[in-house]
Amino acid sequence: MTPSAEPSAPWYDADIERVILSADDIAAKTAELAERIDADYAETDGLLLVGLFKGAVMFMADLARALTIPVELEFMDLSSYGARATSSGVVRVLKDLDTDIRDRHVLVVEDVVDSGLTLSWLLKYLPSRYPASVEVVSMLRKPKALEANLPVKYVGFDVPDEFVVGYGLDYAERYRELPFVGVLKASVYGGA
Ligand code: 5GP
Ligand code: MG
Ligand code: MG
Repeated sequence: MTPSAEPSAPWYDADIERVILSADDIAAKTAELAERIDADYAETDGLLLVGLFKGAVMFMADLARALTIPVELEFMDLSSYGARATSSGVVRVLKDLDTDIRDRHVLVVEDVVDSGLTLSWLLKYLPSRYPASVEVVSMLRKPKALEANLPVKYVGFDVPDEFVVGYGLDYAERYRELPFVGVLKASVYGGA
């Protein structure tokens, strides 16, 4: 094989309008959040991270490795019925917890909190399992979530009310593997 002079651009460059958060931004913020969480839970016997499929997978993996306290990893898959804008807040559990969370310190790991409908449901559901505590960490927060005063204790970045992809977030199941968070070109949606 002949090495080419120029490294070829990754396939997704053609689809991205603008990068909002670089991989370095995300890594730095994850380290910062991990330091806070380490300190807050230093006196405990560790933390049960509950990640929500599929969006939180990348952040969960990086956060778990940045933390120095002992953690266990759990995942839930929740789906809310109906069109997002008119969602009644009815949530279906597609995958429940595999473990007993009684007396455990639970940290829910989210990719982005927007309307917070799913999160609000989860925060009512989890206490019925008698955890020692429940907090939330989200990599991204949209303005709606900020206005609604959702109890997200740890927030990575407040982002504008724009549809973003990458670092776990998808458009029609694509772009989750992008190492950054960005905005897609309108042409990707079939627009101009
Ligand atoms: P919420 O229930 O807070 O309105 O939204 C939660 C879910 O909607 C997120 O976990 C994510 O799957 C999806 N979502 C919200 N905003 C965005 C976005 O900007 N991009 C993508 N790809 N998904 C989003
Ligand atoms: Mg999510
Ligand atoms: Mg999605």
